[in-house]
Amino acid sequence: KLSIQDVSKTFESSRGSVQALTATDLDVQEGEFVTIVGPSGCGKSTLLMIASGLETPSSGRVLIDDDPAGPPGPRRSVVFQQFALFPHMTAEQNIGFGLRMRGGLTRARKQELVAAQVETMRLTGFEKAYPSELSGGMQQRVAIARALVLDPEILLMDEPFGALDAQTRTAMQDEMAAMRSRLNCTILFVTHSVEEAVFLGDRIVVMSARPGRISHELSVSSDFEWKRHQIEHAMSER
Ligand code: ATP
Ligand code: MG
Repeated sequence: KLSIQDVSKTFESSRGSVQALTATDLDVQEGEFVTIVGPSGCGKSTLLMIASGLETPSSGRVLIDDDPAGPPGPRRSVVFQQFALFPHMTAEQNIGFGLRMRGGLTRARKQELVAAQVETMRLTGFEKAYPSELSGGMQQRVAIARALVLDPEILLMDEPFGALDAQTRTAMQDEMAAMRSRLNCTILFVTHSVEEAVFLGDRIVVMSARPGRISHELSVSSDFEWKRHQIEHAMSER
């Protein structure tokens, strides 16, 4: 279980200080898929970075299974909007990158783990391709494979499909939904898109821009249209 407790974040910049996140609480249960949706600048990425340990909160705390989460580690993996692949590495080298420093695994076992991800993410035949030779959807599948190969307990995704064209994006959403049942993982997923949040999330967290906080939480109801209506309504309230 991931617990974000009373977290605030203030950034100091040349323009003065920006309150990106205000007294935010969020619990994500083991195996749950939570989507976070909200307007640009409302603090979604900040919340995700704090959840990952890549950013430290100004106040409040992050717990994993009731223990302080501490710095980023193998239990938490992050996938970004800009896939952030290493351009000079092939697809399989990118996927295996996080395993390189991991002890306790033989070279052969690491190769097996990478091969399994190549298959799951339908990248067979492209193992030796460089990112520049792959389509956007494939690059994103490499980025997801690179996160999943670490077998994280918690997967944090920040607009992972944001850079994809509409068609590829829909395909990736379907794939994510299908993969979901096979993944033994808690997922926190940030998106601009209400449609995507509704389609993927067991629970949807709506954030509002000022002063950067969670304004609503909606659980799954089977009625897609009703859920969407509720979120759109929540996002239009200020
Ligand atoms: P988007 O949907 O556009 O990605 P977001 O919801 O992810 O937006 P954040 O990136 O979390 O929003 O930013 C929240 C607020 O914090 C914004 O006002 C932003 O300008 C500010 N902010 C974020 N990171 C920094 C930083 N490193 N330094 C200064 N201000 C920052
Ligand atoms: Mg963002």
